[in-house]
Amino acid sequence: MTSHFQKLECGAKTRNGTSCDSQELGRGGRCRLHGGLSTGPKTIEGRRRSALNIGKSYDDLLAEKQKRQFRHQYAHARV
Ligand SMILES: [Zn+2]
Repeated sequence: MTSHFQKLECGAKTRNGTSCDSQELGRGGRCRLHGGLSTGPKTIEGRRRSALNIGKSYDDLLAEKQKRQFRHQYAHARV
C-alpha cells in the first residue's frame, strides 16, 4: 500500500498537504503530534486508580455522576 508503513513514518497529512515524516512513532503508528491526546482510563481498574488520585473511590464518582444526572432530569421534568 502506501510507503509510509514500510518506512515507519507517521504519515499523517499536515496542514500544507505533505505527509508528516516524523519517525518517533508511538501509539497508533503516529508520531506524538498526530497520535491524539489520551481520552483517559478505559478500564474499570484504571478509572478506580484515577479516582484514588483525587482522593475518592470509583463508587463515589459513580454516585456523584448519578446524582448529577438525576438533578438534571428533575430540573427538566414538568411536574
Ligand atoms: Zn506526525
